[in-house]
Amino acid sequence: MNLSEQLHQTALRKADKPAYYFMDQSTSYGELDETVTKFADELHKLGVSTGDNVALVLGNSPHFIISLYGALRAGATVIPVNPIYTPDEIGYILNNGDVKVVVALDKLLPLLENMNPILSSVEQYVICETQPANGDISKLNIYPKMKSFTEMLKKGDVHFLGPRLDPEGTAIILYTSGTTGKPKGAMLSHTNIYSNAHDVGEYLKITENDRVVTTLPMFHVFSLTVVVNAPLLSGGTLLIVPQFSPKEIFRLIKKFNATVFAGVPTMYNFLFQYPDGKEEDLNSLRICISGGSAMPVSLLESFERKFNIIVSEGYGLSEASPVTCFNPLDRPRKAGSIGTSILHVENKVVNELDEEVPVNGVGELIVRGPNVMKGYYKMPEESAAVLKNGWLYTGDLARMDEEGYFFIVDRKKELIIVGGYNVYPREVEEVLYAHPEVVEAAAIGVPDPNQGEVVQCFVVKKNNALTEEELLAYCLEHLAKYKVPTKIEFLDELPKNTTGKILRRSLKTHVTQN
Ligand code: AMP
Repeated sequence: MNLSEQLHQTALRKADKPAYYFMDQSTSYGELDETVTKFADELHKLGVSTGDNVALVLGNSPHFIISLYGALRAGATVIPVNPIYTPDEIGYILNNGDVKVVVALDKLLPLLENMNPILSSVEQYVICETQPANGDISKLNIYPKMKSFTEMLKKGDVHFLGPRLDPEGTAIILYTSGTTGKPKGAMLSHTNIYSNAHDVGEYLKITENDRVVTTLPMFHVFSLTVVVNAPLLSGGTLLIVPQFSPKEIFRLIKKFNATVFAGVPTMYNFLFQYPDGKEEDLNSLRICISGGSAMPVSLLESFERKFNIIVSEGYGLSEASPVTCFNPLDRPRKAGSIGTSILHVENKVVNELDEEVPVNGVGELIVRGPNVMKGYYKMPEESAAVLKNGWLYTGDLARMDEEGYFFIVDRKKELIIVGGYNVYPREVEEVLYAHPEVVEAAAIGVPDPNQGEVVQCFVVKKNNALTEEELLAYCLEHLAKYKVPTKIEFLDELPKNTTGKILRRSLKTHVTQN
């Protein structure tokens, strides 16, 4: 079954149940499904059908959910784009993705107007109004190509029947952040996403009784599958947060008795540091889930202690729709582990010769299952480099213990080699995070004439009194000498992408420029 049909099925079963709350106002499944159909009908009238690509340049709001399912119902493939990308990044994705229709917030109008001459395939811009127009928009060059989202919803026909969709057809193309080179568009079929949403939902026991805090950006695969799709398929309710803020998260959880919170480690750090956050505020939560990047063990444990709640870590990547592993709810979770393989997905650790390494040995994590992408859009060579013999090569180094729990060691590319010895940035960072005065930490390799590379660290500290010498002495107590950083630089904050991942490559650029 395809994703839009799945939503329709939930709406038939739960017409009056709230699908989501936004700004404290609820929208029922029945209303959502009707709105999606109307939007699909209007897209169809614009000529959108199977084989066309529709980009959503939107943050967390109902516009995203309506246009996602609406475009799918019209037969199109959806390309979610981070709205705070630079014009170059947005332009690259819209052109590379052969986008026919762009759905964007009104505040992006000036950017779209400037970019229009270079956007070769775009035929229409659907503008989601959030505020009164700034000036006379009819003077814009793109005005003839513009449609109002609100007007489309007024005019759309609620009886529209979309084309029959092939479950193996591409539902979503996700441009991955890509640590090197240009972003690549991972093509995910309806089956890829549906199976992952379903399997993660089973693993985390998501039901119609769940109220899920939706603060992770919907354009990111973690949010798209786990936070949006999985609850909507089960009849649960989303609590949409336009912009992450600890105050708003605590308020929402309390007001709506939220049962699930999903975040990246940076968000857990902010919630942990928030001075007004109390244990009783999170009483209604039955589970907190973390993913997207490594959760420092000391943060995980302090968070669990402070709020008396279990944080379950999982792992995934865009190319796997995304989840491959999660800490199970019915067995103990292991701190520092990404858990065991979820239903229907196989994970294996292999060496350079593609042989499975013995238990606890380190190698590349490879993945097989119904969630693995079809390939990268228009990039056969890059696809062949990561999809081999039915397995997806993740580029992450991992180990598996005797009970089948996996541990991510680090990105293969970010391994630091000091005088021939391997140092994984994460092991150095874990030690720094365990220091009571450290808020955030990142380790990178920098060139060194004698050792090839040495470790350099960047730290955000709680208190100005902490010195580099003290922290280096502390590292020496907890790390083998070759792993101890040669330099620690204190920063006010660490560079992060919008999903909260610390950008080690920006720190490398920082080092070369200084
Ligand atoms: P993306 O496709 O942008 O979501 O990035 C996927 C990458 O994020 C993976 O290949 C990992 O390097 C990293 N990642 C995701 N979850 C975790 C985790 N729990 N621990 C460590 N790294 C993670």
